[in-house]
Amino acid sequence: MSGFMQGKKGIIIGIANDMSMAWGIAQSCYAQGATMAVNYGIEVLEKRVRPLAEQIKAPIVMQCGMQNDAELDALFAEVEKQFGKIDFMLHAVGFSDKKELSGLYVENTTRENFKNTMDISVYSFTDLCRRASKIANPGASFLTLTYLGGETYIPNYNVMGVAKAALDCSVKYLASDLGVKGIRVNAISAGPIKTLAASGIDDFKLMMKWNEYNSFLGRNMTMEDVSKSGMFMLSDLASGITGELLHVDCGYHAQGMVNLNHIKESGDMLHEYAGRLENKA
Ligand code: NAD
Repeated sequence: MSGFMQGKKGIIIGIANDMSMAWGIAQSCYAQGATMAVNYGIEVLEKRVRPLAEQIKAPIVMQCGMQNDAELDALFAEVEKQFGKIDFMLHAVGFSDKKELSGLYVENTTRENFKNTMDISVYSFTDLCRRASKIANPGASFLTLTYLGGETYIPNYNVMGVAKAALDCSVKYLASDLGVKGIRVNAISAGPIKTLAASGIDDFKLMMKWNEYNSFLGRNMTMEDVSKSGMFMLSDLASGITGELLHVDCGYHAQGMVNLNHIKESGDMLHEYAGRLENKA
């Protein structure tokens, strides 16, 4: 096989099932010639992740929770043993208590879940970058996945938005620290797509419809969109890009108001949403 990632070795963190963005990106990297180690976060996911890992001939498939130092140590030791050096690492991990991803941020955010969300969704990337940088070749690329809710207010995204803001900022600090070793650190801000993680966000379907109507392309981002862009950022094609937050959302982030081509659909949606809010009150 030949391709943009021929001979490259890396780590993919965050495949839960065949809907995961990490899976889409891993498939694109494999199609371009990469060899990857993959993890599953908890034991119950093993039966879903192993068959996928077989499809991309991943030589390393291990349980590795982001809050479990022993599992992290074991994964990186195995990667170093089998791969020696690595060329890329993807972090596609996010978690928060579903109960707090709805309603008012000011009322619904507990200290315990705030800390847990930050630990799993933000600190994990810093921790992985530190570990990965010890075994990375110059020119290596580390990538995380973020969302517009870290840059602007998005209803119901709540503490997850605060976590994404911290993740976005950590990309810049990590890019500076690791730039001296020639390592690039970036984020892709993906548009909404139906995955396990997304199912925790209240009114997610509505968010998707609104994005579809109001993005410049008049559609939602697809798995293919994010997979190709992820592979691009992890490969040498993006060799001059670091500290960057790349929006892969069909232009929605740059929309200042509404897409006039779909204003009727947007109006109908707002009307329906207002009705629902009235019923809740
Ligand atoms: P997903 O549910 O497929 O992936 C989330 C992953 O996080 C899962 O593999 C899960 O096992 C892992 N995870 C959660 N807690 C963990 C822990 N303690 N230790 C190890 N792993 C843990 O959903 P996804 O949408 O592909 O999410 C990947 C990333 O993309 C997340 O950071 C998410 O916030 C981000 N994102 C998602 C969307 C969307 O609309 N789906 C949009 C923009 C950004």
